[in-house]
Amino acid sequence: MCAPPVIIVRAGLSGLAASACLALRGVESVVLERDNCVGSLWRKRAYDRLHLPKHHSTLPHAPTRTTPPPTSPAHAQAASYSPHPTMSTTRATNSAPPVIIVGAGPSGLAASACLALHGVESVVLERDDCVGSLWRKRAYDRLHLHLPKHHSALPHAPHADDAPAYLSRDHFVRYLDAYADRFAVRARLRLRREVRSARFVDDGRWEVEAVDLGTGEAELYTARFLVVATGKFDEKVVPAVPGLDTFPGETIHASEYRSAEGMQGKAVLVVGCGNSGMEIALDLAEGGAGSCSVVVRGEVHLMTREIMSASIPLLRFLPLWMVDRLTLLACRLVFGDTAKHGLPRPAVGPFAWMQQGSGYPVIDVGTYDKIKKGRIQVLPAMTGIDRDVVEFAGGGRHRFDAIIFATGYRCTAKNWLKEEGDELIGKDGKVTGKSPKGEKGLYRAGMAARGLTGSGMDAEFIADDISRLLQSSGDEESGNAD
Ligand SMILES: Cc1cc2nc3c(=O)[nH]c(=O)nc-3n(C[C@H](O)[C@H](O)[C@H](O)COP(=O)(O)OP(=O)(O)OC[C@H]3O[C@@H](n4cnc5c(N)ncnc54)[C@H](O)[C@@H]3O)c2cc1C
Repeated sequence: MCAPPVIIVRAGLSGLAASACLALRGVESVVLERDNCVGSLWRKRAYDRLHLPKHHSTLPHAPTRTTPPPTSPAHAQAASYSPHPTMSTTRATNSAPPVIIVGAGPSGLAASACLALHGVESVVLERDDCVGSLWRKRAYDRLHLHLPKHHSALPHAPHADDAPAYLSRDHFVRYLDAYADRFAVRARLRLRREVRSARFVDDGRWEVEAVDLGTGEAELYTARFLVVATGKFDEKVVPAVPGLDTFPGETIHASEYRSAEGMQGKAVLVVGCGNSGMEIALDLAEGGAGSCSVVVRGEVHLMTREIMSASIPLLRFLPLWMVDRLTLLACRLVFGDTAKHGLPRPAVGPFAWMQQGSGYPVIDVGTYDKIKKGRIQVLPAMTGIDRDVVEFAGGGRHRFDAIIFATGYRCTAKNWLKEEGDELIGKDGKVTGKSPKGEKGLYRAGMAARGLTGSGMDAEFIADDISRLLQSSGDEESGNAD
């Protein structure tokens, strides 16, 4: 048996808080207490009429409520976390949770966990039959996170010291599963529930209609707060190329691509030069495709993951334009002039480019080397397809056996979210404004193109804000007041 690395003497307020905070950072402790209870000073050695002002009397992650002390599973868990916890997944409650979260990807999980740590219950509606479905079902096998693990953790759950610096897809899926268990999100999860409409009704609540995809039955959920955590990568986008229907070979979207299996010896065209397209092209080239070409229509900021992770912390101290200049200098040293090989850079630097919503830099994991060596061919925009021959801008014509469309996704939240007033989520899914808070109790989580860091920041903001609003209105519908 492996002994915990920390011994805490006494289970008074300080001992309890120290153990809880260590646990939330994944560090086990043993608490030695000579009495037969926690908080024995308060329980046994204080006079009956003693009172404390609540706002000066809270322990970390557990605000004092006007109602009886929090009893939610996540609170119990926060106080007694062990690295291999098993938690009760059922909880008797006779009041509806005050928050509905749509989507159980990283953002939805983080929002539910952070709310629970504030003693606020939520229900999480997820269309798929699992948490983290984008990572589990719609990502290729060789995918690794682009950012190092300390930039890819959700709140209150850092990655283990012995985890690799850049996590694989499978590793990250296991992390999401463990996160859902650790913060008892599964107890709040309704899987296979597709939200079809959400609107604010006159009594000050959000009314959310979902369909149980298992039974086909319609369900109605109501709550004071609604968190949209359905991501930006939802509906596949495939361009309408003239003649596509005449192509006799296989055509798939990047979300359906797993590996180069079945592509050996074939001439494959990858359409799109974002991170997925570039890495899938590399996977095909390494996996034995007969030939591999990638369509690059516009400009692209090529970067290494080391440059990216070294640049991000600089943004805290230096103006964005300066970080852009330093980053471009480093890129120039590593890659030289990428335009010579068909990959021209945008006029603005990579971080300004990201900030204006124009795109995300491509983290090169070996594709550029294959392009320079001619193993991957760069082609311009497609103009049409004539059976197995694809035509390109400039008149080039090439024959292919398969086409993979790495042409992105569309956010679908606006299909069901009936939002009024200042829009929190634009019609095309593009978000404006920095705050994830909208009007009438509406929030968005993880939709501002800031990756997993943004998912975590939004979740913490939302949990703080909702908890504060519930407390200040004396609202006791957090689900802990039963
Ligand atoms: C190939 C790929 C690689 C990536 N790599 C990185 C990376 O390395 N680092 C990084 O920070 N980010 C990366 N990203 C971005 C990544 O998508 C996000 O960081 C993260 O998954 C966002 O989480 P999310 O919960 O906001 O959205 P998602 O993970 O997309 O989760 C949204 C959930 O909402 C559900 N949903 C959608 N509509 C409905 C509905 N109507 N009703 C009910 N449920 C619904 C979906 O089924 C899904 O489970 C990558 C994205 C892709 C596609």
